[in-house]
Amino acid sequence: MNNRLSGKVAVVTGGNRGIGRAIAERLADEEAMVVVGCLFDEPCPPVSSVERLSFLYLDVTNEASVRAFVDEVLERFGRIDVLVNNAGVIVNKSIDEQTVDDWDRLMAVNLRGPFLMAKYVAPEMRRIGLGTIVNIGSVEGFMVNPWHTAYAATKAGVHGLTLGLAVDLGPEGIRCNTVCPGWIETDLNRTYVELHPDRNLVERELAQMHPVGRIGSPKEVANTVLWLASDESSFVSGEMITVDGARTRKISLPSILDEAYRAKLTKP
Ligand code: NDP
Repeated sequence: MNNRLSGKVAVVTGGNRGIGRAIAERLADEEAMVVVGCLFDEPCPPVSSVERLSFLYLDVTNEASVRAFVDEVLERFGRIDVLVNNAGVIVNKSIDEQTVDDWDRLMAVNLRGPFLMAKYVAPEMRRIGLGTIVNIGSVEGFMVNPWHTAYAATKAGVHGLTLGLAVDLGPEGIRCNTVCPGWIETDLNRTYVELHPDRNLVERELAQMHPVGRIGSPKEVANTVLWLASDESSFVSGEMITVDGARTRKISLPSILDEAYRAKLTKP
């Protein structure tokens, strides 16, 4: 099926690269008109669905920019059916190194951004009597990697925002859910990987932490967003849906036991 979003207008924040780009293309492949909100005036050329993807300037931290973006989308396309709050940033620092500016920037992009977008898009969804909001949270809203205090706080906040929006906007036909990706290959976590000089070793060990034996791709997150954006999930609202290859379902073992277990598995 390639027309699950036919006639719908979708907005994706931070869709110039990474997970956001994969989401924008996936929704456009299903016949949505997709407007990508991004910081660049000259975005990378789309890979597919060219005629259904357009790009407008958006800084999700700035209320005036959010208002102008929403107004422009409505002027050009007449409605907004789907909002995907994807834009996000990360800081890898200990609590001692972290500055108040770091904290405020993460809060502004990762948490105030989705709030502002929902605030200005909801009236339009209310006007047409339906809509779905999909936030990109993280497994780090439930568990946390070292040096991610601020990031984890923003993502836990996004999960809370999801609950609030689902409850408040549900009576008006608007659903809100969050996709919580695990380790997905994008620029966002590259600095973490590059902490160790042997990239192959890091990738091998990362893969081993996942019961499915590998990390995830942006397209796999996009497929879940598509489901939540479409009518196929019509009775699903207020949910945090984890997409992490079961990594956070596995109880960690001491590494020597984990290695012994894997060695046993690979024996003929
Ligand atoms: P990337 O760093 O590849 O992309 C982030 C995007 O957000 C970029 O396009 C960036 O714009 C945009 N952005 C940043 N600040 C703003 C802003 N103020 N206004 C508008 N857009 C902005 O990251 P990912 O694709 O990996 O991450 C996407 C989402 O997924 C984030 O919310 C992230 O927290 C979440 N996530 C990612 C995981 C992963 O493993 N990759 C795991 C769990 C969650 P620009 O291109 O101009 O810099």
